[in-house]
Amino acid sequence: MTTVHQAFRFALDPTPTQSRHLRSHCGAARFAFNWGLARVKDRLDARQADENSTVPWTLPALRREWNHVKQQVAPWWAENSKEAYSSGLEALARALRSWSRARAATTPGRRVGFPRFKRKGRGPESCRFTTGPIRVEPDRHHVTLPRLGTIRTHESTRKLARRIEHGTARILSATVSCRADPWFVSFTVEVERNPNVNGGRDAVVGVDAGVHHLAVLSTGEIIENPRPGQSHLRKLKRLNRELARRRPGSRRRAVTRRRLARLHSRAKYVRQDHLHKLTTRLAKQYDVVVVEQLNVAGMLRNRPLARAVADTSMAELRRLLGYKTTWYGSRVFVADPWFPSSKTCSACGHVKAKLGLAERLYVCDSCGLKADRDLNAARNLAQLAAGSGAEAQNARGPDVSLSHAEQSGQKREASAGYSQMRLAPPPSNRGLPESFPGTGRVTVLRLMASQGGL
Ligand SMILES: [Zn+2]
Repeated sequence: MTTVHQAFRFALDPTPTQSRHLRSHCGAARFAFNWGLARVKDRLDARQADENSTVPWTLPALRREWNHVKQQVAPWWAENSKEAYSSGLEALARALRSWSRARAATTPGRRVGFPRFKRKGRGPESCRFTTGPIRVEPDRHHVTLPRLGTIRTHESTRKLARRIEHGTARILSATVSCRADPWFVSFTVEVERNPNVNGGRDAVVGVDAGVHHLAVLSTGEIIENPRPGQSHLRKLKRLNRELARRRPGSRRRAVTRRRLARLHSRAKYVRQDHLHKLTTRLAKQYDVVVVEQLNVAGMLRNRPLARAVADTSMAELRRLLGYKTTWYGSRVFVADPWFPSSKTCSACGHVKAKLGLAERLYVCDSCGLKADRDLNAARNLAQLAAGSGAEAQNARGPDVSLSHAEQSGQKREASAGYSQMRLAPPPSNRGLPESFPGTGRVTVLRLMASQGGL
């Protein structure tokens, strides 16, 4: 039995009054964020003149100052839960922390800018509650939140309600958020899970997220991209034309923009849903899932859009697999960033010097293999896990060293919850490197060995 933190998210159906309250709370969070940022900037300037002046940099410091001045700067503060202001200040403290951490880092990582003021209507709005009445109602179609009261949910809360009734889940906090249209509530829940460690599953699968498909498995299975329907495309075209005609700054332009944003966010949710279903299936069905490592910091900024989407999918796949494998007692291996999964021949191991992005078919110069580019890559990934075990058994262990250093370019959040580790030398009965099932750790396979060995 392991305890994990899991998010349960439900779309809400608030009444007009409730929407107003939701907006008000998110606005309060934004107000506190902006107030705190202005104060931090002032103090930073003041420190230029006087080295002894302090800057409120952490959440407790920001909160202390806020409580001193809230009566003057926001006499209406009592209209919203105090947690609204707190969550804004917390977001600011987090942004400041990651900024200073990125500055202090010796290795080049993701670029982190200094926090910027939030503008109403730009970017997602959210507000988090950690205390007070937070619960899922027994009718499974309502949730209760502090100050906001009982709000109807758009979908059934069955999955969470059932766990709470069985005593295997406890709600820690709730975040309400809105990007384009629907309001969501996301519960952070402490869940007890019983990972199924020996479940008669298939051994290894390699996964490559592609441009033309959502993913290709080493088994040859192709998971298609969720296709936007004809009506979706028609709507998109119409709204884009409409937006172009609207006068900048007009109310009608704002309406069109909101409609367009809603359409885009829907496409995003559909894609996310597909990724969720795929990763759940993989984590349940296979012992080891091998994915590619993406060098996030090294990625070019102006890439073709399709490539950018595929990279995002890959990163999301890895993130989802990272925690889902913990739930189901399987493991994720991440290939070394330099592993040429696309350029290597999955039949003979020949590595091409060059492979254009447009080449859909992999044709091996050495053995004549012809295979779909993404399938070839997925097979290489699967072989990487299988091969490293075999190599190590041939007393070539040190070559198969697994990097335990955190990839410098990796986004911090992406690696949170699982760390890379050095594998103990096998021998495992399946010829796989030994790992620790159910710990949710991700293993990076160094490829030097496989490259030489293939
Ligand atoms: Zn070949």
